[in-house]
Amino acid sequence: MSETVKYVLDEARIPRTWYNINADLPAPLAPALHPATKEPVSPADLAPLFPQGVIEQELSTERSIEIPEPVRDVYRQWRPSPLYRARRLEQALDTPARIYYKYEGVSPVGSHKPNTAIPQAFYNYAEGVPRITTETGAGQWGSSLALAGAMFGLDIEVYMVGISYRQKPYRRAFMESFGAGCIASPSERTAFGRSVLAEDPDSAGSLGIAIGEAVEEAVQRADTHYALGSVLNHVLLHQTVTGLEAKEQLAMADDYPDTVIACTGGGSNFAGIVFPFLGDALRGGSDLEAIAVEPLACPTLTRGCFAYDYGDSAQLTPLTKMHTLGSGFVPPGFHAGGLRYHGMAPQISHLRALGYLEARAYEQLECFAAGLRFAQAEGIIPAPEANHAVKGVIDEALACREHGTSKAILFNLCGHGNFDMQAYTDYLAGNLSDLAGSEVEAAMALSGLPSVAG
Ligand SMILES: *Cc1c(COP(=O)(O)O)cnc(C)c1O
Repeated sequence: MSETVKYVLDEARIPRTWYNINADLPAPLAPALHPATKEPVSPADLAPLFPQGVIEQELSTERSIEIPEPVRDVYRQWRPSPLYRARRLEQALDTPARIYYKYEGVSPVGSHKPNTAIPQAFYNYAEGVPRITTETGAGQWGSSLALAGAMFGLDIEVYMVGISYRQKPYRRAFMESFGAGCIASPSERTAFGRSVLAEDPDSAGSLGIAIGEAVEEAVQRADTHYALGSVLNHVLLHQTVTGLEAKEQLAMADDYPDTVIACTGGGSNFAGIVFPFLGDALRGGSDLEAIAVEPLACPTLTRGCFAYDYGDSAQLTPLTKMHTLGSGFVPPGFHAGGLRYHGMAPQISHLRALGYLEARAYEQLECFAAGLRFAQAEGIIPAPEANHAVKGVIDEALACREHGTSKAILFNLCGHGNFDMQAYTDYLAGNLSDLAGSEVEAAMALSGLPSVAG
């Protein structure tokens, strides 16, 4: 048997600043464009949706941005999160690779998402905005914002993708327990929701539709802002708290990663663990292999085009240049709800276009198999999303064995799977299958091409 190797930081070592990769990009990001005028968005354009603190961060090129003390104080509830050396997994794989994982499942909702929900709620609270709308797919983001709303006394309204609302009643109860409201999307509450229902009364909903409804409500009400749980620069910024902590923890281990791996839905947990190390590489210190892992059923980075597109199906959001499958893309059903978004963070898309990161896509069955292998070695059941990262890590570790080379692999175990037992039940019963490529092709054909040339 191997021993448990865990690197724990004192809470005084919670980072005091987030890391902004915009400061180190070799070429600047393409600007976001106003959806009507197609001109670069100004801070004033974003004011109906976001507080000033968030807007400044969205556009900032400053390298270090201070984490407000009230945010650090809530972070202390579960941060710094532990970093583990996966000794038992290394042994099970008989690999010379050194595998480390940052475990974000210790947050109150079991994933990394509160790292940005807390500051987003704080900046709204600090500016006197009492109410925030948002969307959620499987419920992870809605739960995180519900938690954050409870911490700062804000009303939270969550538009939840209709099919998940019906299939995951526990998630809804979780949000309501924190005092948030939860509405099945598409709904009758918004003009966009009504238009979708008029066309298809049985619509299962999608993230793009739910975002459209949440944004519509925020734009129309003076007392209400909107919050997004991934994709945008400020969200990725907030998540860097994970990579910054991991850097200190790896220093305790006297190590530094050669390879950093994470799953990518909108890209925030990937950015969180990768950007602080990629920043070192960009400033000339080192080489870094960064690997983004996504599902073959929603292959945004590996199959999408890099072009201006909307963030939502209602086409209300600014256009951003990103890898996208089209704002109308509705992926075929698979059990990693957090990885179903049609777009990818502009910062990650940009870095991929510049050649700083690699992307891979896997089938769901091989990801579940990898997740169980990890669980049985390490004693933590990963979220179905995180299984994609685990699959990428195992492949890298096995390649090390084959080539007789050692390297340090760091990955983000972005959440536990304890709320996802239906997915594991289906997998263990043999009721899950890989999706036929033709289903993905069909979904891509229907999704609508981005409407502004890149
Ligand atoms: C939401 C979520 C994701 C995907 O979002 P990113 O922004 O790509 O990190 C991945 N894993 C879990 C557990 C999630 O809740």
